[in-house]
Amino acid sequence: MANRLSSGGRYSVLLVEAGGRDWHPLIHMPAGLAKLVGLKSINWSYETAPETELNNRRLYWPRGKVLGGSSSINAMCYCRGHRKDYDHWRDLGNPGWGFDDVLPYFIKSENNQRLHNCLHGNEGPLCVSDLSYTNPLSQVFLDAAKECGFLLTDDFNGDHQRGFGFYQVTQKNNRRHSTAQAYLKPARNRDNLTVWTKTSCQKVLLKDGRVTGVCLSRKGQSLEVKVNKEVILSGGAINSPQILLLSGIGSKDELTEYGIDCQHELPGVGKNLQDHLDVCLVQRCQKKITYDTLSDLVVALNYYLFNKGPGTSNIAEAGGFWQSPLANDDRPDLQFHFVPAMLDDHGRNRLKGSGYTMHMCVLRPESRGQITLRSKNPHEHPKIEANYLSAPDDLGLMLAGFKLQRQIFGAKVFDHYRASEVFPGEDVNTDQEIIEFIRNKAESIYHPIGTCKMGNDSMAVVNNHLQVHGLQGLRVVDASVMPTLVSGNTNAPTVMIAEKISDHMMRQ
Ligand SMILES: Cc1cc2nc3c(=O)[nH]c(=O)nc-3n(C[C@H](O)[C@H](O)[C@H](O)COP(=O)(O)OP(=O)(O)OC[C@H]3O[C@@H](n4cnc5c(N)ncnc54)[C@H](O)[C@@H]3O)c2cc1C
Repeated sequence: MANRLSSGGRYSVLLVEAGGRDWHPLIHMPAGLAKLVGLKSINWSYETAPETELNNRRLYWPRGKVLGGSSSINAMCYCRGHRKDYDHWRDLGNPGWGFDDVLPYFIKSENNQRLHNCLHGNEGPLCVSDLSYTNPLSQVFLDAAKECGFLLTDDFNGDHQRGFGFYQVTQKNNRRHSTAQAYLKPARNRDNLTVWTKTSCQKVLLKDGRVTGVCLSRKGQSLEVKVNKEVILSGGAINSPQILLLSGIGSKDELTEYGIDCQHELPGVGKNLQDHLDVCLVQRCQKKITYDTLSDLVVALNYYLFNKGPGTSNIAEAGGFWQSPLANDDRPDLQFHFVPAMLDDHGRNRLKGSGYTMHMCVLRPESRGQITLRSKNPHEHPKIEANYLSAPDDLGLMLAGFKLQRQIFGAKVFDHYRASEVFPGEDVNTDQEIIEFIRNKAESIYHPIGTCKMGNDSMAVVNNHLQVHGLQGLRVVDASVMPTLVSGNTNAPTVMIAEKISDHMMRQ
């Protein structure tokens, strides 16, 4: 948004970021993501409230607190989702958001290094590349998928999403290409763009139904900044609704509970939270070829000195989209990520030995959660209730997906590599046992959306131009506006949303 709105010199833009600059070297070395997930200095490190259907566990939700936001710490998989996801958004009452409407903005943002066809862009700011190094086990995983009868694909964003293959990644010359690197860096020297890091937006200021500015916390001081035109919230699916609620925009009853004057009643703020719940099947490997066996120092030296090797890997190198036997339309309802290393607790618990992991998540869950405040203190983390598996069908799909995971790891091509199963373990076999494993081990795969949903029903927060309903001068432009989850990772769709709205604003 900051890049596009400051181009041409028509507008002056102030970008406010709660975190710091993206100087940390692990941000730029792709494999650094294994460490970034738990690095407190650049991470909001959220936790959900106890999740009832997950045996009351609190789930860890990393989010980037740094220029580039979560795109500076994510796994870089470039996926747009299924074309029907966007047609669904349009059909929910959002004109202009069908797949044919949004495709030009995916293309505008993209600079694909391999694919040159009408579905891909080659001149956009965001570099999308093939991985330059992959672990041999990732190819074994794809061979296993093929052996099980699944199709292979070399483009998850092509005509058909279905299939297994290597992910393309948001990388340029083997470095992470976050939104900060792709969009902000080239615009940083513009006179009409000011960037304030370590500055947090506490609320928006309202007068007579119009947003007049923001209240910020900067260098220990509180200050107000007035705007001539608009405030755009891009705090992500947790923080944008939090800022709205702190500003007195939300459900009147809830706001009253926290002693906040209701300035504008909008009951949908913070509701409609959706996320991809994910379960990992972890297998020990007979051979010492996985990333568990590598020395961090050697990987880093090879990367920083020669720009090559495992340091260039996004770790979740291969994956797939497939339909479960329960699928009720022709879209894949499951996504897989293969990791040639043993993964537990988001990589924060490093297991000894050598192994490999397959993630699996349900793409369009029906469970809905919410973000609410804990108090009116802007520094206090909001309450996250994802309500995973509260819709019964979601659990059935997780179970069906898990059986596909085991089928793939059971393929003959893995015979030379497979040792004992770590999670859940060979003694977990019946549906009840697998369900209990899911309840004990499933985690977020980091795609929260929907808490300021776009639409025109009574629970919608923004209209199809992402303007907050009933107010002047306020938009939300981030993953929170998605009315429903897309069938894939959420970074590319978020960039597309920003491309589309900035284009609309520049045409006005
Ligand atoms: C560990 C991880 C792995 C992921 N892997 C992938 C992947 O491989 N592929 C993919 O497509 N997607 C992935 N995602 C998801 C993807 O990165 C997000 O969907 C996307 O970044 C969302 O963009 P956003 O703008 O909505 O929010 P964010 O990227 O989270 O950005 C919000 C920004 O606002 C700032 N902010 C928040 N509150 C305030 C405030 N009050 N004042 C000032 N600044 C504030 C934050 O610090 C942050 O910089 C992953 C996410 C994570 C966390």
